[in-house]
Amino acid sequence: MASPATADAAPCLRERTDIPDRFKWNLTHIFPDWPAWQAAYAELDTKIEAYAALQGTLGQGADRLLRAMQMSDDVGQLSYRVWYFTSLKYDEDQRDNQINAKRQEVQILFARAGQATAWFEPEVLKIPLATVQQWMTESQELAVYRFAIEDLYRRQEHVLDETGEHLLSLSSQLSSAPHDAYAALSTADLKPPTITLSTGGEVALSYGQYRAILATNRRQADRAAAFTTYHTLFGANVNTYASLYNAVLQRDWFHARARGYASTLEAALHGNNIPATVVENLIETTKAGGTAPLQRYHRLRKRVLGLDTYHSYDATIPLVDFDRKYPYEHVLEWLPKSAAPLGPAYQRQMEEVLAGEWIDVFENPGKRSGAYSAPVYGVHPYVLLNHNDTLDSVFTLVHEMGHSMHTLLSNAHQPFVYSTYEIFVAEVPSTLNEAFFLDYMLAQATDELERIVLLTHGIDGIVGTFYTQVMFADYELQAHRLVEEGRPVTAEALGDIYVSLLKTYHGDALDYDDLQRVTWARIPHFFSTPYYVYQYATCFASSAKLMKWLTTGADADRTAALDRYLTLLKSGGSDHPMALLRRAGVDLSEPDTVRAVVDQLDALVTRLERELRV
Ligand SMILES: [Zn+2]
Repeated sequence: MASPATADAAPCLRERTDIPDRFKWNLTHIFPDWPAWQAAYAELDTKIEAYAALQGTLGQGADRLLRAMQMSDDVGQLSYRVWYFTSLKYDEDQRDNQINAKRQEVQILFARAGQATAWFEPEVLKIPLATVQQWMTESQELAVYRFAIEDLYRRQEHVLDETGEHLLSLSSQLSSAPHDAYAALSTADLKPPTITLSTGGEVALSYGQYRAILATNRRQADRAAAFTTYHTLFGANVNTYASLYNAVLQRDWFHARARGYASTLEAALHGNNIPATVVENLIETTKAGGTAPLQRYHRLRKRVLGLDTYHSYDATIPLVDFDRKYPYEHVLEWLPKSAAPLGPAYQRQMEEVLAGEWIDVFENPGKRSGAYSAPVYGVHPYVLLNHNDTLDSVFTLVHEMGHSMHTLLSNAHQPFVYSTYEIFVAEVPSTLNEAFFLDYMLAQATDELERIVLLTHGIDGIVGTFYTQVMFADYELQAHRLVEEGRPVTAEALGDIYVSLLKTYHGDALDYDDLQRVTWARIPHFFSTPYYVYQYATCFASSAKLMKWLTTGADADRTAALDRYLTLLKSGGSDHPMALLRRAGVDLSEPDTVRAVVDQLDALVTRLERELRV
């Protein structure tokens, strides 16, 4: 997750060649030049063929299985370098057709690799688990793969026989139809209406413009007009949206039942071996006593903004005007200092990342927007930024640095097969880095306005990444239960669920609008990735709990907590995410973990109230 580019007017862009090298990533760390890349591409192609030739041999003994695992690692490692060299080059300037063509060549090779290696899992699973386990006790080299292999068998529990799997595979084209239709209806076919603002200016109301008005326009009447106009668009087709969403729900329930799961939630969580109680605990604990600081924050906003009524469209306008610039060079100094609670070794490693030509800092014509950390295995992580001196872009760097440090530590301490981590853990170090950085900046800030902006930034992060996502998870769960219990899914039923959730979370801190009944229809996640966004909330709760461990209590306790946390980062994907987090002291099935983030919000709102003297 990275903040999208802001709607600020773009300054005149420097050409890439005019940007000093120390602000650009150096891709010669991957390959010195294109001929070297070409040679690696050919080598990868050969390795894929050689791997495919192993088909039919796995059952012959431990050494054959080991050979397949090792060759698969080989292909995997080289794939990272071959892919990222083209993909990162392409992101430097996406107008470059030649590089785009090379990038697509790799994608075509990967598609071929997928077909050439599809035999592996079914062939392993024909060998009895007890036999493979016996092999692993006899071969230390094979035992490295124990978790990966045993997890293959665990996931097998809900795989059907050949006829069943064939039948399900025939339905796969239908499965994406509701989302495709949703994307067409809500994006491609949506005609942005024009609204007239109170200044007399006219604006074509795209989603980006709608968000920009809510975040920058100080006239409530303009924000209200933008909200009404934009949601009327969705209201006009609300029955169509409801029937598309019904198709999503029915599809999920069909797959869950076909594979023998008790519920759609259980089916969604089985891949990562996460118990349904995690999501239920997240939702229940947040609703039971977790909403008070959220409501206090909105009431505070209403008073500070001097509004008679306070609506959902008033929730993103800044409380104060303050536009300090944060030059990149300053952030480079602050960032390692802010990580002091993570120990000197972590700080030193961070300094290396920041100094090593691993980061592409500034925008240039044609460069990809947004930000990411790319884990180039066998080389090091690279970070893409579009730093523009705003506070948001500073926090984006801090966030991505959390991902890069996680990659570095996990790659250094795990064999290739466990070097990547799951999304369920991924957003823990990024959000924890942000929390430490916020603390550091608050301690440094001498300007009261800056402290207000920083506190609001921290609070809005918790509201958007935790509360909103928990509410969304709650919505998805209730909607899926409609089909699981054989109840009708109508626009009215979906609107009822959404509005009742809004009221549960916001109480009388919000004035409600009829059009909020259709808000669910404009949330693309509901249609594209059901039961996914809750992971942002669990990561946030985990990082709040870790923050508590790392900053409070006796020295010895903090040292032990730090050791556990660094072990988590070094563990990559060597176990199921819940097990890894539990070893770090975070149990997501416990209400206490969820309360840590509620307490964090409570403390920030209290500080904000003090700064604003209200
Ligand atoms: Zn992230």
